[in-house]
Amino acid sequence: MATHECDICIIGGGISAALLAQKLAELRPGVSIIVVEAGARLFDFENRTARRQRMLEYGENAWPGDAIADQSADGIISRTMAVGGSAMHWGGVTNRFSAEDLRLKSQYGVAVDWPLEWDDLEAHYCEAERRIGVGGDPSPLPADRMSQPYPMPPMPLSWNLLQLKAWAERSGIPFWGTPQAKNTIPYDGRAVCQRCNTCEICPTGARYSPDFTFKQLLAAKKIALHDNVLVRRLIPSDTGGRSPRIVAAQAVHRERPEQAVEYRARTFVLASGYAWSPHLLLLSSSARFPNGLANQSGLVGRYMTGHSFISAQIELDAEIYPGMNEQHSLISRQFFRCPTDQPYVRHDFRIWESAAGRQPRLRTDEGKLLMGDALLADWRTRTRRGAARVRMYSDVHPDESSMLTLSPAQKNRFGDPLPKITHVLDAATRARAAATETHIRALFARLAQHSNGRVMSVTKGEYLDHPAGGCRMGTDPATSVCDSFGRTHDHANLFVVGSPTLPTGGCTNGTLTFAALTLRSAPAIARA
Ligand SMILES: Cc1cc2nc3c(=O)[nH]c(=O)nc-3n(C[C@H](O)[C@H](O)[C@H](O)COP(=O)(O)OP(=O)(O)OC[C@H]3O[C@@H](n4cnc5c(N)ncnc54)[C@H](O)[C@@H]3O)c2cc1C
Ligand code: SF4
Repeated sequence: MATHECDICIIGGGISAALLAQKLAELRPGVSIIVVEAGARLFDFENRTARRQRMLEYGENAWPGDAIADQSADGIISRTMAVGGSAMHWGGVTNRFSAEDLRLKSQYGVAVDWPLEWDDLEAHYCEAERRIGVGGDPSPLPADRMSQPYPMPPMPLSWNLLQLKAWAERSGIPFWGTPQAKNTIPYDGRAVCQRCNTCEICPTGARYSPDFTFKQLLAAKKIALHDNVLVRRLIPSDTGGRSPRIVAAQAVHRERPEQAVEYRARTFVLASGYAWSPHLLLLSSSARFPNGLANQSGLVGRYMTGHSFISAQIELDAEIYPGMNEQHSLISRQFFRCPTDQPYVRHDFRIWESAAGRQPRLRTDEGKLLMGDALLADWRTRTRRGAARVRMYSDVHPDESSMLTLSPAQKNRFGDPLPKITHVLDAATRARAAATETHIRALFARLAQHSNGRVMSVTKGEYLDHPAGGCRMGTDPATSVCDSFGRTHDHANLFVVGSPTLPTGGCTNGTLTFAALTLRSAPAIARA
């Protein structure tokens, strides 16, 4: 068996792990940190222009080798397992949650309050924005006050977004550019965005991805990174009764499966994302801990959360030329707040340029076949108007039975059961679902009242986006898995960071919040 010793063992190598390792190395110079990542190290930045080209020409996966064939789960929305995690692919949209997300119970009587104060989280949003590199327009709404400005100027709005902003604001709702982790000036040794429109794979490095942080840490010899190593279980000490310390993480190198690997550390941190963090705790069950580790509350794998979404395509009188930096968008945070004497509904509001309805087609809306001049005439008529894609993420709350469990049927090649996730919304969310949808459809119609607009289609999302939960934080060990710093109530040297710790999933992109919470955990982990 290969045994590795360190002060801090971080399990998982996504964005949460990268930012945590960076901050720990600053807080405790000389501390030994090993990051253990199940997937491969895709550090070939020099190949990204060619990969992007093949993606555009042939529709190929721009990230070959970023998933593990036998490591998947029912109910997950991204299979990425590689150094950098899902944030190798991400769009880099870095919206903050709002103060209301932390006080849902006391302010609105729904879900739970988070065990920390907004000002505390807000300071860590600033830190995450600085470390990642975010450019943005500050929100004009007083409730969105930022204690520090964005570290980079905003991405300029394209012609299309300027047309759409003028149109949308006629409905009385303010819109501004969405903040993004994309360089608008040279930042942290990376280039400026060229608006080439393929942020799924960024050929310039303008869009932040965690591989940049890992490469910096490795070059400075601040961490060791063990890729292709899957941690299979955590081992508690024989002493310590019901609350033992964790003494080891047992793993396997995926390319040398015959050789077991063990990590011994003073502190262990689960940075394996919303699915694999609770999964590893459940997988670490034993005769002494039949429900898995950190699970005296029985809540590991429960309250799996995220947000619902509804989208629309709206046609309007405007000159929109699809393909101008179409990944950039407008946002309004006006509906992050909800008057407490009105039915509860909270959501963000985003607008993108759209090519919907602008492509040539072979049949009319009525199904009549179009050929030759008729096809061209129909196309010309439809390209005289522009289109907008509009989407709202709405705040929904998980039921306790919103669960990640160990699948009785599916196992990986080492014989370990894989996770199975079933999202269930709580009774209050289900009861207000129809009113929420009516409210959102009315906003689509309110936009469409202007510029001769017409709602072409409305689509309801069929999954929860920016998934989180499974190890929710709280002050009471009976109703939560960890405290607000991610320290598990049951094991003093075991932490969970980022997405799994969220009690509720907010109503906008979650990754900046996962990052801010992780950075907030760092001093407690450094001291542990
Ligand atoms: C296409 C796409 C676009 C997105 N765009 C946005 C966006 O614009 N804005 C936004 O806010 N969010 C976006 N997201 C979501 C965002 O990417 C994720 O929220 C974020 O990357 C999660 O980071 P994480 O560190 O929590 O987890 P992950 O990225 O999942 O990292 C966890 C890592 O742990 C490893 N791991 C798991 N189990 C083990 C184990 N047992 N042993 C060793 N290693 C293990 C995994 O292989 C993985 O690499 C997007 C996601 C996708 C897929
Ligand atoms: S638009 Fe900017 S951030 Fe997106 S891929 Fe191109 S250079 Fe990168």
